[in-house]
Amino acid sequence: MGFFLGKKNAGKGTYSSLLREIFGTDKIATVALGDLVREIHANWDDYKTTDEYQNLKKFYRGYISFDEAVERLHGRSQSTLLPTEFVLALLKTRIAKVGKKAIFLDGLPRDIDQISYSLFFRDLANYRDDPDFFMMIDIPMSVIDERIKYRVVCPNCNNSRNIKLLITKRIEYDESSKSFHLLCDNPNHGDIMMVRKEGDDLGIKPIRERLEKDEEILRKVFEEIHGVPKIMLRNHVPAAEADKYFDRYELTPEYVLSWDEKKKKVEVEEKPWTVKDDNGVESYSLLAPPVAVTLIKQLSKVLNLL
Ligand SMILES: [Zn+2]
Repeated sequence: MGFFLGKKNAGKGTYSSLLREIFGTDKIATVALGDLVREIHANWDDYKTTDEYQNLKKFYRGYISFDEAVERLHGRSQSTLLPTEFVLALLKTRIAKVGKKAIFLDGLPRDIDQISYSLFFRDLANYRDDPDFFMMIDIPMSVIDERIKYRVVCPNCNNSRNIKLLITKRIEYDESSKSFHLLCDNPNHGDIMMVRKEGDDLGIKPIRERLEKDEEILRKVFEEIHGVPKIMLRNHVPAAEADKYFDRYELTPEYVLSWDEKKKKVEVEEKPWTVKDDNGVESYSLLAPPVAVTLIKQLSKVLNLL
């Protein structure tokens, strides 16, 4: 059981799905609190008929009544507003449903006072024989900022790409607005133009407080918690040291798009992309695969697979 720590948009979802691809969905499951809450909220009538719901009712104990906690889940509430006791019961019931797999949890701890719950959550969820550990993603604010600012989403399948950092195979140019549009790569539907979400142009501004809280939790666990193994994943590498440890193709490039009027074709130029990390050091951001390799190396050490 691994607890994912790191800022929102740090890539927890990406690394989880890479792990599932490598080890198989029969061996690995990811439980993300935010997704879980959204899923239950959207399918409430069906959910109420399941054993999982009965278990949730059985497991829950806390300062507000079960019905009130459910009401909060349905309210415009994000998972942040749910009481910790309810969050623990939600995660426990979902883990019981997932069964005996390695589980990666995203969403606990969400706050400083939830750190100590995560220390005992393995026992709470009846996972006492399996090792547990923290997985921490160290990523600069500036990388997340650019990921949000240039993010585009498919309105049909929700696939997410980035017009600057993660493009699709086919790109269209709109001559009237002089803008470029990515077409979603999903083979399950026809050509669909990916669009920007409202507010994304603000980057991390609206979520800065959340990001700082996430970082504070990570630092606290990293520096102060003993007895639980820790895996540290670094998203970035100082530009001055990059050549020593990484190949060019392992670093996130920047794509510069231009319109070739003669050929009537979108030209894509790839160039190195650097940002300042949180300490002002010029850095490259690593692509997901090299980070996943260090994750697997550390994981096998933590799980005594070596
Ligand atoms: Zn799509």
